[in-house]
Amino acid sequence: MPYRPEGADQLAFLDALFDAGLLIETGVDGLYGRNGLFEDVIARFDELVTRFGRDGRPEVIRFPPGMSRSQFEASGYLKSFPQLAGTVHSFAGDEAGHRDLLADIADGRDWTGQQQATDIVLTPAACYPLYPTVARRGPLPAGGLLFDLQSYCFRHEPSLDPARMQMFRMREYVRIGTPAEVTEFRATWMERGKELMQALALPYELDVANDPFFGRAGRMLANNQRDQGLKFEMLVPITSSAKKTACLSFNYHQDHFGCLCGITTDAEETAHTTCVGFGLERVALALFRHHGTDVAAWPAAVRETLWGAP
Ligand code: AMP
Ligand code: ZN
Repeated sequence: MPYRPEGADQLAFLDALFDAGLLIETGVDGLYGRNGLFEDVIARFDELVTRFGRDGRPEVIRFPPGMSRSQFEASGYLKSFPQLAGTVHSFAGDEAGHRDLLADIADGRDWTGQQQATDIVLTPAACYPLYPTVARRGPLPAGGLLFDLQSYCFRHEPSLDPARMQMFRMREYVRIGTPAEVTEFRATWMERGKELMQALALPYELDVANDPFFGRAGRMLANNQRDQGLKFEMLVPITSSAKKTACLSFNYHQDHFGCLCGITTDAEETAHTTCVGFGLERVALALFRHHGTDVAAWPAAVRETLWGAP
């Protein structure tokens, strides 16, 4: 086998996706348009996730891809992942300031000095706006709650790996309740995740994982997360068989969000939370990688699963 540097597969696949028109270049790594076929595959997978989760009768909520800055500040995200966060800023100057801004742009100077933070930040994970929302409702009912979320998310991690986007969609089921309720939910979904991958004829591997916590203190957090088995990922080879890509995540936050937001159970104990995240673009990319860019030629069973007909 000829030597292929790690990045070669990623670039070749990204180029193939551009050539097929599935992804559309914008000039920014990790920021792409999607064509109708790509969106159809995402919509069909989204629907499959709904079918797999229907028995739990989740409450469906859709938040926009921006969330409240004050809620974001309270979430602790900036402690763990300052490098990934994206904030929305807007021009806050007067007319003279506007003239300066236009001159700066015309002369190629930095023009962002007069931009000020708005009350909105970009949502980093679909579940972040949920916890304060649930807290405002008061104590949980007996048996806890289950939510179905989906949002575009932003993470500042520019990359030539098509599976590492800066703006992508995350579908989530979020279970909030007692430790026993949420851990049982997560265990059930780890099994369902395997069934999902089998239904899509994708190779997979379920493994313990950690988040990319920032800095030296972050390494300890990451080790702790792994040691306690708080994060598992469903890995699928997409752009490298050596370094597989996390397509689904199973996160147990313990009482992190319950404490931060003040969510309590009906027994007045701090609620625990868990979320199952489905990376919609990543699953679509895995399907195109393994079954080809021509969906008419996909295995009949996979077509049946997604479109209801071979
Ligand atoms: P996480 O909150 O990091 O566990 O992410 C949840 C899911 O979102 C992951 O399992 C991935 O499928 C997906 N995801 C995370 N980061 C990215 C990214 N940069 N580009 C595309 N999908 C992502
Ligand atoms: Zn989540």
